Amino acid sequence: MTVIGITACRKLEDYRQSILHVGGEPRTLDSSMAVEAALAGVGGLMLTGGGDVDPSRYGEAPHATFEAAEPGRDEFESALIAAARTRNLPIFAICRGVQILNVACGGTLVQDIPSQIAGALAHSLTVPQHEPYALAHEVWVDKDSLLARLMRERLVDEALEVNSRHHQAVKSVAAGFVATATAPDGVIEAIEDPTARFCLGVQWHPENFFRTGEFRALFEGFLEASSR
Ligand code: MN
Repeated sequence: MTVIGITACRKLEDYRQSILHVGGEPRTLDSSMAVEAALAGVGGLMLTGGGDVDPSRYGEAPHATFEAAEPGRDEFESALIAAARTRNLPIFAICRGVQILNVACGGTLVQDIPSQIAGALAHSLTVPQHEPYALAHEVWVDKDSLLARLMRERLVDEALEVNSRHHQAVKSVAAGFVATATAPDGVIEAIEDPTARFCLGVQWHPENFFRTGEFRALFEGFLEASSR
């Protein structure tokens, strides 16, 4: 069975379930592990949600809203990304995951969408009744992308409805990557490296849909690439 390394986070269970539901074997990667040991026997790397990447990693001072991730997580995940890319291991990055992936590869982030992007949509719904799998806005998908190929059965005129729980986003896309989905307000919602076997990051939370399968194709495609 193909082992998928999943970076530890506070809401780990939906990521684990999403991998289990497509027939993979999840392994939690904790920042106390050495990178080589963490990736031993792993077929693909999944980067999960969480707090903000330290902006000193892309040369900025922290915005007032900065909320750090767990100590050591930026360093550990950056090292995992470097090692995985050297080996051409498939990478699937979600929410904070796409942000650390972009920064680790040389890109930058919008530190706070509500205060830094005029007219932005509500990307971080916090009303009490908001369910994690409630759809929040659409994204427009580049039709010549891995994301479009995987999601072709759900795309309507190249658009896709997604959930949204983030206050940061990719700003300058890392060299070698392309933005392959944007929200109608211009916020980047997905990036990928077209030269990699499978290297995709999305800003929404497909893992919250494991019960109903709206984004199952992303996990299937990731597992299939990780099994090769
Ligand atoms: Mn969003």
